[in-house]
Amino acid sequence: MGNFFTDVIKKDPRFHSTNRISDIALLEPVTRAAVQAVISDAAAQGIKLMVFETFRSQERQMALFEQGASQLRTVGVHNYGLACDLVKDVNGDPSWKGDFSFLGVIAPPHRLVWGGDWGRPDLPHSFHDNDHVQRCSVAMQPQLFSGEWYPDADYDPFHATSAPAEDAAAASGGGS
Ligand SMILES: [Zn+2]
Repeated sequence: MGNFFTDVIKKDPRFHSTNRISDIALLEPVTRAAVQAVISDAAAQGIKLMVFETFRSQERQMALFEQGASQLRTVGVHNYGLACDLVKDVNGDPSWKGDFSFLGVIAPPHRLVWGGDWGRPDLPHSFHDNDHVQRCSVAMQPQLFSGEWYPDADYDPFHATSAPAEDAAAASGGGS
């Protein structure tokens, strides 16, 4: 059975592109709508955001790794159209300055996990990705990467579907 990754992303001519891609057409539709809602919520708080990167190819990930611009050799959720980097728009230029913790507040109601806390603000994290949001829980990433699973429209990363029960309970974090 196909999904946005197999039907759209893998067939896109940019699938192997080493360029940074900020086209929201390469975001899976539910993720795309959620990202747009986050942008509009931020704007309502007086924070102008810019979509900096949506889809990322494995080839680009490797190039970034080799340049020392990324600690990761293997591309993650960005490759599946389920992650987006949102930066501040300062007079049309991208900015990473200042606090991004507002994303940790705005993103979860739209079912997006923020890379600043990976959906688990109760835990310490060694790796922070403050401009990153994704519509996939960390617990489900292995299944996503192996091709066993892709989120459906109703998927909620804060209510894990096939993670171990104790993780699922913890991940819901009192939101029930
Ligand atoms: Zn990212």
